[in-house]
Amino acid sequence: MSEPDCLFCRIINGEIPTDFVREDDRSVVISDINPQAPTHFLVIPRAHLDSLDDASQKDEALLGHLLRVAAQVANAAGLAESGYRTVINTGAGAGQSVFHLHVHLLGGRPLSWPPG
Ligand code: 5GP
Ligand code: ZN
Repeated sequence: MSEPDCLFCRIINGEIPTDFVREDDRSVVISDINPQAPTHFLVIPRAHLDSLDDASQKDEALLGHLLRVAAQVANAAGLAESGYRTVINTGAGAGQSVFHLHVHLLGGRPLSWPPG
């Protein structure tokens, strides 16, 4: 459930003090320490999964929940009209650096496509 050496597990269990923008029984939302846009939040499940590739059928409801939380936080941040992007980097080759599944929520500036 919780991995002792995982940064996000340590944030979630309070070992590394971090403000939660929002939290519920299944997820927490924090501000990214190195924001790539004016709004850059991370939606993180309380349960440890290394990555999206680690998710199985039992995690389907949780994955849906994370996306709904992202949309709710985006709306609360006033991004509904300008638009926002949700990103899940999976694997080091795709830019994943913290191996605890999380959804990036980015907005507040024009976001080009395709991403790098
Ligand atoms: P990834 O590269 O795995 O897709 O995303 C990990 C994100 O976590 C990065 O955007 C990085 O800036 C952020 N991050 C890394 N360490 C910390 C930290 O200690 N606190 C917070 N709030 N964000 C972090
Ligand atoms: Zn973890």
